[in-house]
Amino acid sequence: MNDENCIFCKIIKKEIPSKIIFEDDKTLAFLDINPISEGHAIVIPKDHYETLEFLPDNELKCLYQTVKKVAKLIYEKLNPDGYNIIQNNYKAAGQVIDHFHVHIIPRESGDKKITLALPRSSASNEILTSVMEKIKS
Ligand code: 5GP
Ligand code: ZN
Repeated sequence: MNDENCIFCKIIKKEIPSKIIFEDDKTLAFLDINPISEGHAIVIPKDHYETLEFLPDNELKCLYQTVKKVAKLIYEKLNPDGYNIIQNNYKAAGQVIDHFHVHIIPRESGDKKITLALPRSSASNEILTSVMEKIKS
């Protein structure tokens, strides 16, 4: 199951070259061509699904097993101080390639590559209750 116009499907089929870190029947991990940091990697399922909701549960398990394997490899071999796992869904959340993918982004202490100081405001009990009602309806 693939999309002939999808860059990541082309990477899977080796029609576009990439630096492959790990590959098995269901998943592929390769270096991001525009890395945020040294070792920035992308992990994808070999079947084309656009976002998280479409990924079957059995594929999700395989995918995150590969994320864990590659994150461990990067942490042990490149010795970053830490790493972020980021997964964007839909354009509003920054997704550019419409083939489900997980970013593994190595971090150094104080590198300021990604700021997680997100703007937050406290919510009243009424607001949280109203959100819960929408989710559970
Ligand atoms: P998104 O913003 O969709 O979550 O991230 C897509 C990522 O795919 C970006 O970080 C981008 O640099 C990477 N990317 C896009 N095209 C290619 C490509 O042809 N090869 C590789 N290795 N990475 C790509
Ligand atoms: Zn694809």
